[in-house]
Amino acid sequence: MRLAFPLPSPAVPIQGSDDSFPVRRIWCVGRNYAEHAREMGFSDREFPFFFAKPADAVVPSGGEVPYPPRTTDLHHEIELVVAVGKGGTDIPVARAADFIFGCAVGVDLTRRDLQALLRKEGRPWEMAKAFDHSAPVGPLRPGPPPERAAIWLSVDGLERQRSDIAHMIWSVPEILANLSGFVALAPGDLIFTGTPEGVGPLQRGSAVRGGIEGIGELAFTVG
Ligand code: MN
Repeated sequence: MRLAFPLPSPAVPIQGSDDSFPVRRIWCVGRNYAEHAREMGFSDREFPFFFAKPADAVVPSGGEVPYPPRTTDLHHEIELVVAVGKGGTDIPVARAADFIFGCAVGVDLTRRDLQALLRKEGRPWEMAKAFDHSAPVGPLRPGPPPERAAIWLSVDGLERQRSDIAHMIWSVPEILANLSGFVALAPGDLIFTGTPEGVGPLQRGSAVRGGIEGIGELAFTVG
């Protein structure tokens, strides 16, 4: 069967390789750091939860993110991103590392004003989270992430977020175990694992840098 027209194939560069990781879906974890749950006005005793972005929301490091329409409060959320290399359902925590291709630094861009409104009205989050260019991701480092590593983000050279991925409520293996109980994970899935405290607004022209110790860095500007 011939396709009537070509589709874009979003992909993330792989460190130390000419190959790229093709992106199938983007899953995200909400409220996975206690301090961030508290800064958003929630108890850290509730379980984290999942939402999604389209695969073509990916923006490679070094790119420009256009300031999105319909918001005046675009927020940065620095996150560890895990790339799934092997599919599975009901993945046991102890075997989760076998399903990981690699990891990277990502930013879950959020229309915070719209998110607050949608939450208040009990409506879906897509227009706050799943908009175009909402998922900048740095180059993938092959292999599973370490259990602890510093994670940070700066805007125009000023540090806004700093924590350690060890502070996640659900660890990476627990995220894979939980998520694979809801959907069959598949090669090409990216998982944004939640942001630590210090989220805040970006302006047109903001230069954003983020990193995770031992994994890599990510940079983009807001257009
Ligand atoms: Mn997030």
